[in-house]
Amino acid sequence: MTDRLPMILAIDDTPANLLTIGKALGSAFDLQVATSGLTGLALAMESTPDLILLDVMMPDMDGYETCRCLLANPVTRDIPVIFITAQNSPDDETQGLEAGVVDFISKPVNPSVLRARVRTHLTMKRMADQLRSMALIDGLTGIANRRCLDEALASEWRACQRACLPLALAMIDIDHFKRLNDTYGHPVGDTCLVTVASALKACLGRSHDLIARYGGEEFLCLLPGTELAGALSKAEELRQSVQDLGIPNEGASAAPVVTLSIGMAVVIPSAAMTPRQLVDSADGQLYEAKRTGRNRICCIDLHQAG
Ligand SMILES: [Mg+2]
Repeated sequence: MTDRLPMILAIDDTPANLLTIGKALGSAFDLQVATSGLTGLALAMESTPDLILLDVMMPDMDGYETCRCLLANPVTRDIPVIFITAQNSPDDETQGLEAGVVDFISKPVNPSVLRARVRTHLTMKRMADQLRSMALIDGLTGIANRRCLDEALASEWRACQRACLPLALAMIDIDHFKRLNDTYGHPVGDTCLVTVASALKACLGRSHDLIARYGGEEFLCLLPGTELAGALSKAEELRQSVQDLGIPNEGASAAPVVTLSIGMAVVIPSAAMTPRQLVDSADGQLYEAKRTGRNRICCIDLHQAG
């Protein structure tokens, strides 16, 4: 929203009202218009505007019903809706607020009131969007955080269980990270985390694959619908890509550069198991990879292990 005009969608069955709104907003906004609830919904889906100005009284589909449809759709539910209405009794306002609108503007529309309210709600929308994304992103590396991973794991677990598909999870740890911090200092350690995170992320191609920072120098990779063989080759790609970065770590035992140990667990999710057990199994394999010399992958197929 910083490099483009905020997009406003105005829905009103009376074209003259849309003209009034257009005049009031002027050129500071990118205005789209629709003359029915139905065409408004289609336009909202297609262009996901930043704010919707919605007439209450319309034939066929009125403002209340249009608002309900917007809120029921994941694509449009976070777009703030302002009712533009001639009915401004407390009862009407209550009904509108219950329907989920954020504000009311009375007809006839006063241009400066309209502009001021639109600006206020655009600012709030921008802040809400930022909060939503910050809550799921790791501040240092910019990749998904633990909370995002936990949510994705829960939903992929259910999806793979329904479809009888395997779910692979890799727990990834930077070898001798403490020595790197001690030798080169924490700023270098932080840069290393950022570089490793982006190298790991660059290895993932499919939209459902996820890499997250789980804490400290530990990352988790979630690979839904991936068999053991595929998961292992992906893990090898992750391991190799970080070794190829050639980030110096003189104190490390496995190689003089930053390397990864990876523990992998694969399972076809069932009610007999929990996502936590998959994480714990991957963690056990990570321990095994550390114990047997680091810069390597250990794995377990929980389906085979019964
Ligand atoms: Mg009307």
